[in-house]
Amino acid sequence: MTPRDIEAFFSTLQAARPHPQTELEYTSAFELLVAVLLSAQATDVSVNKATRRLFAVANTPQAILALGQAGLEAHIRTIGLYRSKARHLLQTCQLLLERHGGEVPRDRAALEALPGVGRKTANVILNVAFGEPTIAVDTHIFRVANRTGLAPGKTPLQVEQALLARVPQRFLRDAHHWLILHGRYVCTARAPRCTTCTVAAWCDHARRNAGADAKPPASPATAPRRVARTPRP
Ligand code: SF4
Repeated sequence: MTPRDIEAFFSTLQAARPHPQTELEYTSAFELLVAVLLSAQATDVSVNKATRRLFAVANTPQAILALGQAGLEAHIRTIGLYRSKARHLLQTCQLLLERHGGEVPRDRAALEALPGVGRKTANVILNVAFGEPTIAVDTHIFRVANRTGLAPGKTPLQVEQALLARVPQRFLRDAHHWLILHGRYVCTARAPRCTTCTVAAWCDHARRNAGADAKPPASPATAPRRVARTPRP
């Protein structure tokens, strides 16, 4: 994608959704931290179901610590990896109280020092809770950035750095949400909806397919032989 393509790509996403939001439900930075920590390898819908019950009885580090491992597990057992997530969350609550007065720190290093919090989670907290122009590269953003040619990279960190370098400043704060939502609902992993996609005009994948469609069919004499392949997982 050229810089002009990227400008048009994000202008289009912005016009469709001027104020994108996370689909996780929260009312404080701490609740957001809990929700993001629980969301690894789980859907936002399943996390919201669990946190609605959990936050009704415990939405501060002290209150969650008071639940203990078994009590916390009982509230989040519908979420995958709930045992290890409960353990990490309790350790995180302890550290928030010991080091940060029970508050969620607005600092990448301090966030990443919390158990269960990696770069991606820290980026979500910095962006959503504190309004910083960070981009948390999850599976959706990684796929969309590579497939469209927006910010190709072999690792999430490479894609994050490419996005930070290529996305115009005025879109950076919300780029994270636009790309996640686009990947979740339009540019899906198995069957991207290219024919109805609003940003297809600037997408490398769509252009490649259009180019392939435009090629004349090969004659039987020159057509490549079909080779059976194992479908990709
Ligand atoms: S045109 Fe297809 S591949 Fe490109 S962004 Fe849209 S859905 Fe994804």
